Amino acid sequence: MQNKRKTSGQVEASASASASGTSAGSKGRDKPLVCGNWKMNHNHFEAIQTIQKLAYALNSDDYHHVEVCVHPPFTDLRSAQTVLQADNIPIALGAQDCHSADAGAFTGEVSAAMLAKLDVTYVIVGHSERRGLFGESDEVVNAKARSVLRHAMTPIVCVGETFDQRRAGEAHEVVSQQLAGSLDGLDEAAVGALVVAYEPVWAIGTGETATPSDAQDMCAHVRARISQGWGSAAAAGVRVLYGGSVKPVNAADLMEKSDIDGALVGGASLNAEEFARIVNHRLYAT
Ligand code: PEP
Repeated sequence: MQNKRKTSGQVEASASASASGTSAGSKGRDKPLVCGNWKMNHNHFEAIQTIQKLAYALNSDDYHHVEVCVHPPFTDLRSAQTVLQADNIPIALGAQDCHSADAGAFTGEVSAAMLAKLDVTYVIVGHSERRGLFGESDEVVNAKARSVLRHAMTPIVCVGETFDQRRAGEAHEVVSQQLAGSLDGLDEAAVGALVVAYEPVWAIGTGETATPSDAQDMCAHVRARISQGWGSAAAAGVRVLYGGSVKPVNAADLMEKSDIDGALVGGASLNAEEFARIVNHRLYAT
């Protein structure tokens, strides 16, 4: 797969995002971003082991071509941070969620301020499991994304339609609405520096994957909608990931598409060897 080169518009977008202090961890569209969302799996001992195995499976050339991030559960973050730093492993640390307030009486919650102290770079907000199982609205997702930006980390804002919505021909409109609500009020530079993950709900954890052309179609739609709402520099800079049953066997075909800038991987990221093969999709491209 050819890496997608930055256009001058994208360079401009990332420069202006850096200037506004919103681009921590943002490497731009010239490097695919592959994130492993471990969900509620792996305790902190298993997290250390998985990261060490992943580091063993990847080399400096791999990191040169692909930006890699792991998103362990909250209880693993400190251990993961320690092993990444102690062993000098160039894998970014991510979180799976955060609360929108910095501190307060929110039993069981974790703030973006706390995540920033653990050297977290990327924070997933609005994952469909949070939206579906915990009733998170676009308004809540928006508040969380703002909080992540306030603490100089990069939000990965998830959007995606259900099977029924796709069958009813509503997929594009649903994604447009989620973007409008989740990114409401953010400026062009902030949107240009963040990450959007298009994850059709029917493809998450099901083994069903969107075809590369359907995934490309929706990722292009995300970029077009961002261009309309937040400007062309935002559209040129924003990284759009595909997520939903990404595996070593389908990763290369998905990521060669022009509007797909990487992958958000759930189940297949729990196994270091399998995840490393997704990171190294370029070696398996046909
Ligand atoms: C996810 O949880 O974001 C995801 C895409 O899961 P899976 O890869 O297991 O479908």
